[in-house]
Amino acid sequence: MTTNIVESINSVLRFARMLPVVHLIDEITNLLLYWFSQRRDLAMKCHSTLCPDLGEKKLRKRLDAASRMNVVKINDVEYNVMDGDLNGLVHLQNRSCTCRKFDLEQLPCKHAIAVCRHLKLNPYSLASSYYTRPTWAAAYAESIYPVPPEGTWVIPENLNNVKILPPLSKVMPGRCKSQRIASKGEASSEKKMLKLMHSLGDAGGMKVRQVKGHARHTEQLNKSLGMTF
Ligand SMILES: [Zn+2]
Repeated sequence: MTTNIVESINSVLRFARMLPVVHLIDEITNLLLYWFSQRRDLAMKCHSTLCPDLGEKKLRKRLDAASRMNVVKINDVEYNVMDGDLNGLVHLQNRSCTCRKFDLEQLPCKHAIAVCRHLKLNPYSLASSYYTRPTWAAAYAESIYPVPPEGTWVIPENLNNVKILPPLSKVMPGRCKSQRIASKGEASSEKKMLKLMHSLGDAGGMKVRQVKGHARHTEQLNKSLGMTF
């Protein structure tokens, strides 16, 4: 998983990027059409108050942890929650806590949930509307339609006469790079494999070597049979 949305889209379109631009746009349209329809169906089937993978799972875990905490009232809006290892000072009106989770995620932290339990409040009411099922469903409510055949397009007269030329660009010598240049400090796939072998220990290393050995053996077998790809 990456936090960079451009990297995620690039990864999904790594093969489609080699297509001519019209086909690339068709691919992107089809991909978005599929994503919207899939997420719309998921949102329709969801029965929880918050999105299952984002808010609901986190909140339920925190509900469990909050049941073992003691709450001390400071004033009408501030409460000190004794957590054992890290106490939290919750400000209900500002929706904040000294652990910073409530402020950053806009989802009640375990301290805020403990306060809700103490005051018999519904902790779901303190979660941001961004986590709710209606917001999730609304984000994918619009339908995406495929582009109709060119013959059926209705183009205004003023746009029909405009001649669009490609932008001026300098073609550099050599083949275009298709792989992303790794950032400084980012491990290469070979380094990642070595890291994985190291983390798995002897048994894991043997498994990786077996997979590599199998690939080599298949290659030799194909060569001896005269099967070249
Ligand atoms: Zn907190």
